[in-house]
Amino acid sequence: MQHLIREKALKLANSKVVKGFYPTLIAMQTKTTIQETEEVLEQLVAEGEIKRKHQLLCHNDNCLRQLDMVNNIEDLKSEYSCDFCGEEMEEVLPEYIRHFYTGKDK
Ligand SMILES: [Zn+2]
Repeated sequence: MQHLIREKALKLANSKVVKGFYPTLIAMQTKTTIQETEEVLEQLVAEGEIKRKHQLLCHNDNCLRQLDMVNNIEDLKSEYSCDFCGEEMEEVLPEYIRHFYTGKDK
């Protein structure tokens, strides 16, 4: 199963049309758990085969638009406001940060 996860992840990461992907997609496609998928993805990150980014979503559950995308979690700002719904965030809550994986050259 790990082999299949790797294969799918590398295909998506190196795709010219796909910007990147979430672990949920691979977990669904390979019928594995998100945890198991993330473990393999983290291995690929450690090997330098793919890159992991942190995507910050708007904290308004009816909006959830992307507010920021950074390589390192420390690069997130301390405050955000959403241009779409007007939500003001005085702190970043971890549950609104998602892992987003992409190719090493993207
Ligand atoms: Zn919003």
